[in-house]
Amino acid sequence: MTKTFIGCAPVNFRRGRPSGFQPEAIVIHIGEGSLRSIDQHFNDPGSRVSAHYCVSKAGDIHQYVDEKDTAFHAGNIDRPSWTGLKPGATPGSFINPNFYTIGIEHEGFADDVWPDPQLATSAALVAEIAQRWKIPLDEDHVIRHHQIRFLKSCPGNVIKISDILGRIAAAPAAPAAPPAVTSVKTVSNLRLRRGAPSISAPVVRTIPAQTTVEVSTAVLGDTVNGNNRWYSDGTGNFLWAGGTDQP
Ligand SMILES: [Zn+2]
Repeated sequence: MTKTFIGCAPVNFRRGRPSGFQPEAIVIHIGEGSLRSIDQHFNDPGSRVSAHYCVSKAGDIHQYVDEKDTAFHAGNIDRPSWTGLKPGATPGSFINPNFYTIGIEHEGFADDVWPDPQLATSAALVAEIAQRWKIPLDEDHVIRHHQIRFLKSCPGNVIKISDILGRIAAAPAAPAAPPAVTSVKTVSNLRLRRGAPSISAPVVRTIPAQTTVEVSTAVLGDTVNGNNRWYSDGTGNFLWAGGTDQP
């Protein structure tokens, strides 16, 4: 995913996050303007606002603030409905949600239908951030700005969080990892290779047929006779799965 780092005015974000805070949720916004105007707004020291990203209608991503830093995108709390808000020291108060959220702006206006490239890129970005910070992909952790600041309709009247999450669920799943195996038996004399699951890796020794071998994981390596599965013994040695009883 290509991101163009634009940055923002130094007074519009806080370097780092307060001790003990890291991203736990993603706040979805609508920028009420063009990508260019949002770039300018975040670089205007008078605005005192920023977000980590903005996704354009064409599906381009501009980044303004590093995810490890605190963007000023959701600090005003007004009749909140988000149950993930952290309570503050005094009753009825809250810790600034900017400390533990990532903000994504979107080019356009509250009543716009999001074009497909914008929705697809937003979904991919949300998925990437969620994976990086171990954020659950549900509506308690990917939220509308409106749920923090009631007065704002942000991110607008058309887009739903389920539109974004639905795109992620619909994405093709990664190929399933080969199952973990603890022991296999060689069906022929089999060379144990050092350093890589490859027929060009040096031979440690030849394991006789009908030997039980403890292995830790199955990995993908050189294809031999149409089979590219190999087993690792967990100490940097590999044997071709095709020569075992669990090819
Ligand atoms: Zn907003």
